[in-house]
Amino acid sequence: MSEKSGKCNCGAVAFKATPKNGDVGVCHCSKCRRMAAGPFFALDCGDTVKFESEESVGVYNSSEWAERGFCKQCGSVLFWRTKDRAVNIVSVDAFDDPIDLTLDHEVFIDEKPGYYSFAEKAKQMTGQECFEQFAKSSE
Ligand SMILES: [Zn+2]
Ligand SMILES: [Zn+2]
Repeated sequence: MSEKSGKCNCGAVAFKATPKNGDVGVCHCSKCRRMAAGPFFALDCGDTVKFESEESVGVYNSSEWAERGFCKQCGSVLFWRTKDRAVNIVSVDAFDDPIDLTLDHEVFIDEKPGYYSFAEKAKQMTGQECFEQFAKSSE
């Protein structure tokens, strides 16, 4: 996929990133849902994320190895990334132009509350399976 531009609601944070593909991953974990006020839909952008300026990028230290980004001005939830910034999972809805997308996988399916579920058939992984896959791919 070619490089895409994106921004937060107020425009204080603008970025460019190259999604690996149009495979949307959605996370149902309690941290994502609390932060994004719903499941977090995102694209894997590897290490390609470039911010115009990092001044308005708020970073929340969410675990030993990962952090979550948002706009300090408007609160838009923007990304989840590893602390070394090698992996950037960017909010689908932060991108400016519609991208041809498919719901590909749902993670932390074991933390999904019972009051919703998706009709799309996507690969489902528990939190544990997700960590195992992540450990394998970073070996
Ligand atoms: Zn903003
Ligand atoms: Zn999550």
